Amino acid sequence: MIRFLIFLFLAYLLYRLLKGLLTPGKQVGGGPEGGVIDEMVQDPYCKTYVPRREAVKRTIDRETYYFCSEECASKFESEKKTQRGES
Ligand SMILES: [Zn+2]
Repeated sequence: MIRFLIFLFLAYLLYRLLKGLLTPGKQVGGGPEGGVIDEMVQDPYCKTYVPRREAVKRTIDRETYYFCSEECASKFESEKKTQRGES
């Protein structure tokens, strides 16, 4: 009997998971203009959080970083280069 209940529980979980996958973001509350809350990203240089949409994106050493400004981006980039050492 307990086994059956566990099976039912797992089946329910699976059902919820599949339903969530098939209908992505349907329950996400947002404005009619698709006002999804912007993801916040941290500027690794000055540690400020900025909305990803407004952040300055830089790819350094195959890693993507987000900055609050071009200034932070170039400073961080040159710092990275000095850390690596000139070869
Ligand atoms: Zn910054």
